[in-house]
Amino acid sequence: MKWSWKVAKIAGIDVFIHSTFLILIAWIGFSYWITQRSLIAVANGVIFILLLFLIVLMHEFGHSLAAKKFGISTRDITLLPIGGLSRLERMPKVPKHELWVALAGPLVNVVLAAIFFVWLYLTGGLSNITNTTVVEGTLLQRVAYANMILLLFNLIPAFPMDGGRVLRAFLAMRMEYTQATQTAATIGQGFALIFGLVGLLFNPFLIFIAFFVWIGASQESSSVQVKEALSGIPIKRAMLTQFQTLDYNQRLSDAADAILTGYQQEFPVMKGDEMVGILTRSALVKGLAKDGPTANIASAMDKSFVTADANEMLEIVSERLQDCGCHTVPIFDNEQLVGLVTMENIGEFLMIQSAIKRSSNPRAV
Ligand code: ZN
Repeated sequence: MKWSWKVAKIAGIDVFIHSTFLILIAWIGFSYWITQRSLIAVANGVIFILLLFLIVLMHEFGHSLAAKKFGISTRDITLLPIGGLSRLERMPKVPKHELWVALAGPLVNVVLAAIFFVWLYLTGGLSNITNTTVVEGTLLQRVAYANMILLLFNLIPAFPMDGGRVLRAFLAMRMEYTQATQTAATIGQGFALIFGLVGLLFNPFLIFIAFFVWIGASQESSSVQVKEALSGIPIKRAMLTQFQTLDYNQRLSDAADAILTGYQQEFPVMKGDEMVGILTRSALVKGLAKDGPTANIASAMDKSFVTADANEMLEIVSERLQDCGCHTVPIFDNEQLVGLVTMENIGEFLMIQSAIKRSSNPRAV
């Protein structure tokens, strides 16, 4: 995720912190300073944040461990102010499994809430619990309070909250997955609107959450739709087959001409029948600035590049394209370069597919 920093690696899973988590820390520190005007209080607040951080992390590991039970590993965990995000290798296909994976996180908070309750009961901290906020009360009281808030937020039935996934899993038991996602996303955005309105009137923090929920809902809905549209389609049907290649011995000025006169931005570089590199637009610009137009293409091209086989599925290749952060993936069939795939042409393919779908289904708008 953008704007995140890696802070640890636990049980083979990279743990990232999102920059907005720092906004939360700043907000808490500021609140302590305003109410108590002492650096000790601010330090106290930092300890509180670290404990909160630990709770969120445990919550995320709840998801990861549940997913592991169904044979799904976790790529990484990102901690956000409203909770965390575990990026699973894939989403569970069976709705019942998704339900368990989604519930496992909040279940950790439920268990913690029970422990805190007993602890507070034994230490006499329950008597004045109603006065507790994130800045007032003993450390234990505040941590117990924050844990409850996290639990409640995560149960809001909207993406990216766990409640949204629980809702989708329930819906997916009764309807098709894409439909379930869309319904859940719409319900989630309804909640976001309510939060936004209530936030405007009472608490600006809710606007912040509304924003997250709105983005989360639309992201989830479009990524599921794209996946569904791309699945089961071989790359052969969507790749560019009319494309230009450049020769290993040509000059950068030839590549510049090719860019100006055609639609292509990146070119496979050939040495005879073999593809030896790819010349990207940025590498061309750099090469031109550094070595001038008479320099050889070979000096500017990228020798390592991600490829795909013509029989692979569009869904897989599109994921590879996103993961490598590259613009073009060359497609091979029996070691012969037969096509190129770019994000734009996958986008065009999706557009055409959806137009065809609309024309064959007059009820859909
Ligand atoms: Zn969660």
